[in-house]
Amino acid sequence: MFSSIITYSPAYTIVPTYECFNRCSYCNFRAEPGKSAWMSLSEAGSIFKRLKAQVHTQVVCEILILSGEVHPQSARRQAWFERIYELCELALSMGFLPHTNVGPLSFDEMQKLKQVNVSMGLMLEQLTPELLKTVHKQAPSKVPSKRLQQLQWAGELKIPFTTGLLLGIGETEQDWWETLEAIAQIHLDYHHIQEVILQPHSPGKEQSFNAPSFNPRQLPYVISQARKILPADVTIQIPPNLVQDSQWLIACVEAGARDLGGIGPKDEVNPDYPHLQKNDLERILQPTNWRLKPRLPIYPQFDAWLNPHLQTAVAKCRDTLSI
Ligand code: SF4
Repeated sequence: MFSSIITYSPAYTIVPTYECFNRCSYCNFRAEPGKSAWMSLSEAGSIFKRLKAQVHTQVVCEILILSGEVHPQSARRQAWFERIYELCELALSMGFLPHTNVGPLSFDEMQKLKQVNVSMGLMLEQLTPELLKTVHKQAPSKVPSKRLQQLQWAGELKIPFTTGLLLGIGETEQDWWETLEAIAQIHLDYHHIQEVILQPHSPGKEQSFNAPSFNPRQLPYVISQARKILPADVTIQIPPNLVQDSQWLIACVEAGARDLGGIGPKDEVNPDYPHLQKNDLERILQPTNWRLKPRLPIYPQFDAWLNPHLQTAVAKCRDTLSI
């Protein structure tokens, strides 16, 4: 029987630090600046060794480096950036493919990280500046123009990029389409956006923002509209742990979502919503024609943008996963 493919990335997330100088009111991740120890290289090395040892039961290719932010003007910014760079280097040296998402970076920082990352990411979230009066009132990194600038720099630097929208944080429906149109336009300029994540707001225990979950029943509609706005070579990703009803998850796939993101032990951004594992997803998709297939954090059409060292690492991982 003919089956269609929906992808996921076998991934593990490391967090260099939870400290963040922003205070997004829906955040369930951050710690106060100076109150979260930074991940050491030996700690990361132990994690990577453990992941290597389990290769016969569970292959992991992507290391997602997800961090809270140290202020760009802080005297600690350089050390923060260097730790992230070194963690990427270490992951790479142990056969993993780093994908960094650590908030807005300077052009120079992005250029450096390109040397040790196969792709990078930053959620655009929403383009409307209205949210700077509400959920982003104390989040200088969430100035939309700053984030749009990152997408543009990623294009100029030829960095394969993942971005996305956070849905249900006080924006209007019109805001969704404007944000998607901005992403579409920037992709038409540089052809570098691999994926757009549509992430429904899902309240957690730590946040102060008092609003319900984004209605999962609306998600298939947003996906089908997004599919019309985004160029065909941009994949739509949804996080399956945030669409908790199997029927609605299938409806999202039918509406045009083709990727389920990184599947690992923990969703660091939404710790109250455990990741569904590969077996769970296979069970949900079993009655349908959709079949899961692993992918790397870089889509094949971007391989030529990488330096030779990264290209070799990618080729090895493709071999390991037989893709
Ligand atoms: S959502 Fe991200 S940027 Fe905002 S406070 Fe949390 S960690 Fe910082």
